[in-house]
Amino acid sequence: MTVARPRTLAEALGALEATPDAHLLAGGTDFMVEVNFGHRRPTDIVALRRVVELQGHEHADGHVTLGAMLTYAEIEADLAEDFPALAAAGRTVGSPQIRNAGTIGGNVGTASPAGDTLPLLVALDAEVDLAGPEGTRTVALDEFITGPKRTDRRPGEIITRVRVPRVTGPQQFLKIGTRNAMVISIACLALVLDLDARRVRCGLGSVGPRPLRPRAAEDFLSGEIDWDGPRAAPGAVRRFAELVAEACTPITDQRGTAEYRRHAAGVLARRAVERSLQS
Ligand SMILES: Cc1cc2nc3c(=O)[nH]c(=O)nc-3n(C[C@H](O)[C@H](O)[C@H](O)COP(=O)(O)OP(=O)(O)OC[C@H]3O[C@@H](n4cnc5c(N)ncnc54)[C@H](O)[C@@H]3O)c2cc1C
Repeated sequence: MTVARPRTLAEALGALEATPDAHLLAGGTDFMVEVNFGHRRPTDIVALRRVVELQGHEHADGHVTLGAMLTYAEIEADLAEDFPALAAAGRTVGSPQIRNAGTIGGNVGTASPAGDTLPLLVALDAEVDLAGPEGTRTVALDEFITGPKRTDRRPGEIITRVRVPRVTGPQQFLKIGTRNAMVISIACLALVLDLDARRVRCGLGSVGPRPLRPRAAEDFLSGEIDWDGPRAAPGAVRRFAELVAEACTPITDQRGTAEYRRHAAGVLARRAVERSLQS
């Protein structure tokens, strides 16, 4: 097996061009599990850990760009103020060791329906920057993830950054699993009350083939909230929860039944709104 360890994006793209079948390795917390189980037998690897352009995060006009190699530990430490729900999602991922190694680029690259950062990123209309042999491009995350563990990544491309708009207002991330830690979600939900746009933003995980946006539920609650509070009548919150549950397209698997997942999403929706409203 060959392992390229580039230090710049140009070197990484060059390594991919030289070995077109090479697999990208970030923190390895998804990829090495597949190798260890024998599901993948890579012959060439391009390791991204040292690539300077993929590190850290930057504040820009109205948004923050997250380097693909940003780890969960860094998200928790540095971004809790900008994106409290992203930091909350990061805190629930794996163990401290996984959070030190696992990256946001890897979560997007794996595109698991249970990826914990994805509901908030989708709710905030995040975009993915890619660099490849044809140059660079930016794609809405909602379009980049096309199905369970499937993306629109083209041959030779590297995810360089995730651009996340900054939004003023309460944010929640809630996750249900079979225990409180080290658990892949049975259902998870991110909610943002966008006070400037007076708009509810919601993203759902593990209840469909890809992260879902329950748009009808968002539209309904956006119209029901008294944004000067923000406040909403209990009946409106209950209806929002029903609409969220209706938007789910879950499957039954070893972690939970479709019926349980749909119910759980509704419960999470109600709790997230109640925690965000002024009582
Ligand atoms: C014990 C354990 C617990 C876990 N718990 C959770 C959890 O609670 N929630 C959760 O969401 N996940 C969890 N995970 C999964 C994993 O930690 C995350 O998905 C993590 O974000 C993967 O990032 P990584 O850097 O390790 O990616 P890697 O494993 O290195 O890569 C993952 C995939 O993304 C691709 N990739 C990586 N970087 C790029 C890039 N820059 N451009 C293009 N493609 C790229 C790789 O080629 C690979 O296909 C857990 C994993 C383990 C082992």
